[in-house]
Amino acid sequence: MRMSEIDKSNYSTEPVVYGKDECGEFQGLISRAALTVIEKLNKGGYNGYLVGGAVRDILLGKTPKDFDIATDARPEQVVALFKNSRLIGRRFRIVHVRFGREIIEVATFRAAHNQSSASAKTSTDGQLLRDNVYGRFEDDVWRRDFTINALYYDIRDSSVIDYVGGVRDLRSNIIRLIGDPEVRYREDPVRMLRAIRFAAKLNFKITPSASSPISSLAYLLQEISPARLFDESLKLFSSGYASDSYKGLVEHDLFRYLYSVGSGELNQADPFDNKFVLSALENTDRRIKDGKSVNPAFLIAVFLWSTMQLHYSEYQRGGLPARVALLNASDRTISAQIKQLSIPKRLTLAVREIWELQSRFFKRTPKRANRLYCHPRFRAAYDFLVLRSVDGADLKALGDWWTLYQEVDETQRKNLFGEIEIQQRH
Ligand code: ATP
Ligand code: MG
Repeated sequence: MRMSEIDKSNYSTEPVVYGKDECGEFQGLISRAALTVIEKLNKGGYNGYLVGGAVRDILLGKTPKDFDIATDARPEQVVALFKNSRLIGRRFRIVHVRFGREIIEVATFRAAHNQSSASAKTSTDGQLLRDNVYGRFEDDVWRRDFTINALYYDIRDSSVIDYVGGVRDLRSNIIRLIGDPEVRYREDPVRMLRAIRFAAKLNFKITPSASSPISSLAYLLQEISPARLFDESLKLFSSGYASDSYKGLVEHDLFRYLYSVGSGELNQADPFDNKFVLSALENTDRRIKDGKSVNPAFLIAVFLWSTMQLHYSEYQRGGLPARVALLNASDRTISAQIKQLSIPKRLTLAVREIWELQSRFFKRTPKRANRLYCHPRFRAAYDFLVLRSVDGADLKALGDWWTLYQEVDETQRKNLFGEIEIQQRH
């Protein structure tokens, strides 16, 4: 059994404490809700610190997505302090304190577990199954993943407490795992995805020792529940850094553990030459930067398209009519995929619609075109069609026609139909 024995000799046992002159004043940047929770913990006789992503992001001048708090109060003690709170969590018990739409996550300090502990469990290959061993502040640091995620902010004296050289790594733009990377990845393989995600999001470099074991340990992701992998995949592809995340994942041989169907072709071809996928990712990132909404179904439809097409041709060669072939190919692609990622039904339905509408773009009679245009999924399907035009001039012409169709008025639209030779393609 492998255990998380972090060799602390590489680190100082005393923390470096940065004052506000060095790390700045956080108060105005922490949400009112998070401040309230920390203040109340402190008043209740406990210690409460801001930790993790929020400290990291504030130090980098970014707006934190959410606020995580670490405390020496036990979960039941936290619950007793806040009426608006509840205990959650299977892998470890944490408390959610709710303020309107904002949820503050409060976690009790935990220790890196050891073999004799009854509350920490690892599987035979070193995976952490449960880690509910409470610990002291200085224990909590070592069970965190990266040095830049193991910084604690104390509102009482506006200090940043750093046991692991996290501030130094932040300043050098480095993602460094705490402890031995291979052991830490085996404990929780999702850390490999997190390394790629933070490198993409922050535009940081992963240290060679944390980067090099990933491709040979990537297979460990097969043991992660499809629900957790889906959550991670959303964070990877819906946060505005989808393109760099994708490149990092492919480079480290991780992508196929998220979307294995179709990755056969993907790995053989140069993945960075896959214009269709790359432009979809870039478009998604651009939309998020412009403050527009993105539907995760769109990228899923893109990732699975080539596989679906392979099945589709196969069914057609087998003599099935186009419509049935398409339905079968969609079913087959999606049912294989959801074994890997628990993609919710509402998204797989949208994926199917985007695919199904593709053939209808070819049928340009006034009536059919109008019906398609009124379809609730028209916009996504049209965007998908435009992306596909990287694959050929015919599709480009079709995409251009539909672009015009949307731009012109009723009378001009009539002329548009006059100009085309109507294609009846399936
Ligand atoms: P963001 O919220 O921007 O995605 P984050 O760093 O806050 O980034 P969370 O998933 O919210 O990420 O986790 C909060 C903190 O909990 C992390 O900063 C890290 O210290 C710790 N943590 C989260 N997941 C793991 C993990 N798999 N292994 C070890 N520590 C983890
Ligand atoms: Mg967070």
